[in-house]
Amino acid sequence: MDIGQIGEYIGLATSAVGLTGKASDTIVSIKALFEGGKTPDNEQVQRLLNTLAAELTSANMMNVQLSDALRALSQELQRQDDFEKEKARYELIETSQKDIVFRLREDAANGQPIHFICPVCLNRDKLISFVSGGYYKTCQTDGKHGFRFEKMPPARQVRMGDF
Ligand SMILES: [Zn+2]
Repeated sequence: MDIGQIGEYIGLATSAVGLTGKASDTIVSIKALFEGGKTPDNEQVQRLLNTLAAELTSANMMNVQLSDALRALSQELQRQDDFEKEKARYELIETSQKDIVFRLREDAANGQPIHFICPVCLNRDKLISFVSGGYYKTCQTDGKHGFRFEKMPPARQVRMGDF
């Protein structure tokens, strides 16, 4: 998460609090009109009541917006936390062909078979993407992410006698 995002939420919260404050002030003004048994001008009361209604509507809309934003932020934090936990299960290794990939740590396997994941997808997209294949394994998300694991055996002619 970036600091701009947090600033946005603080801004929303400040506006919501500000609007609530405005509504409170309007309520005080309305009460003041009736103080000491005064009979205020209807038009004046009506104007203030309309103002209060508008302020409450705005505050309510701002609160809905704010609570949606806070919920989204909380979900984003949860997602980041889950990702970091998942990422911690892997370690960087170098293949015999000097390519770098992530491998599931044996002490964190939890019964899963040891497998490899793509470092490009992990670092760039925060995505756990398996790599599969034999000597040369490719990323299941993007086939252009390829990794050499073992030296390819020299191509040899297959003769009938081999079977
Ligand atoms: Zn990939």
